[in-house]
Amino acid sequence: MYDVLIIGAGPAGLSAALWCDELGLDTLVLEQASETGGQLLQVYNEIGNYLGARAANGLELRDLFTAQLEGTDFDLWTDVEIESADLRARRISLRSGEQLQSIGIIIATGVRRRRLGVPGEAELAGRGVVESATRDRAILAGKDVCVVGGGDAAAENALMLAEVCPTVTLVHRGERLRARREFTERLKSDHRVTVFKESNVLRIIGEERVEAVEILRRGAIKPFQMAVGGVLVRIGVEPRTELFRDQIHLDERGYVVVTGEQETSIGNVFAVGDVSNPLAPTISGATGAGATAAKVLATRLEHG
Ligand SMILES: Cc1cc2nc3c(=O)[nH]c(=O)nc-3n(C[C@H](O)[C@H](O)[C@H](O)COP(=O)(O)OP(=O)(O)OC[C@H]3O[C@@H](n4cnc5c(N)ncnc54)[C@H](O)[C@@H]3O)c2cc1C
Repeated sequence: MYDVLIIGAGPAGLSAALWCDELGLDTLVLEQASETGGQLLQVYNEIGNYLGARAANGLELRDLFTAQLEGTDFDLWTDVEIESADLRARRISLRSGEQLQSIGIIIATGVRRRRLGVPGEAELAGRGVVESATRDRAILAGKDVCVVGGGDAAAENALMLAEVCPTVTLVHRGERLRARREFTERLKSDHRVTVFKESNVLRIIGEERVEAVEILRRGAIKPFQMAVGGVLVRIGVEPRTELFRDQIHLDERGYVVVTGEQETSIGNVFAVGDVSNPLAPTISGATGAGATAAKVLATRLEHG
């Protein structure tokens, strides 16, 4: 029995844990990955917009967080697989058989990158299907590549790859790119970049490594194959809320709907960070929301 169970050890969950600990709540953090940090582990650029700390990349910021947590008293379990969460009863069952009970729950499960879900994507992951233009730049240098998506992230990654790749084809299913003007203007003037709008990647092809993509353009009867040596998919993110579906109020995209105090539609169950913040997901927002939930819960318990 804990005062509070926190699900997820990204910036939001870690901040909530720090505050819960400081406020004297008996706290357990459950993290499914083998280490803490969440999306910070995918940030390969400098982070200069988190007030109070400048970091060369996300891992460095995560390490700063970890250093600050030294000496705190909360429990942290990594590599945890949650089988089910009964939010109303505030009971969590783990695949390993443990049953955990608490007075409050803080959901801090963040978001994951959306996948295309086409044949070849999972099979060729790490073998030409790459995660980041910054991290995987050297692997893709000199190769023709395909970037899938139409938002800022897709455009920015396409431009970065165009610095080292002979051709970059940006494939977007919509009629126009959603990326900000600064990026679309640069895409237009970069002779190495071609944009295919109203087009879908149907398949990523390759034996050992990526060799081609199969694309269907709107209005065409048949798809065509284009030889490429790399594929990068940036088609947005989705909230990690499958455990809580049908229990709390989610919006149409699956994000948790919360009050100004970060509370969900069930009392003493909170949601913090990206999982409840579709419009402005940031590290600062996540850590702030974690603090809010911890303080509200601690106040309730004091008076309850
Ligand atoms: C490439 C990139 C660059 C970015 N750059 C910036 C930037 O410069 N500035 C900025 O402010 N923000 C930036 N962000 C966004 C920032 O990283 C996020 O806003 C922040 O990490 C959100 O924190 P979070 O704790 O809400 O979620 P996450 O970081 O997503 O962490 C959620 C955690 O919950 C865990 N989890 C999920 N489901 C379960 C489960 N069922 N059981 C147990 N654990 C679970 C996950 O494994 C993960 O560790 C960037 C993000 C990316 C991807």
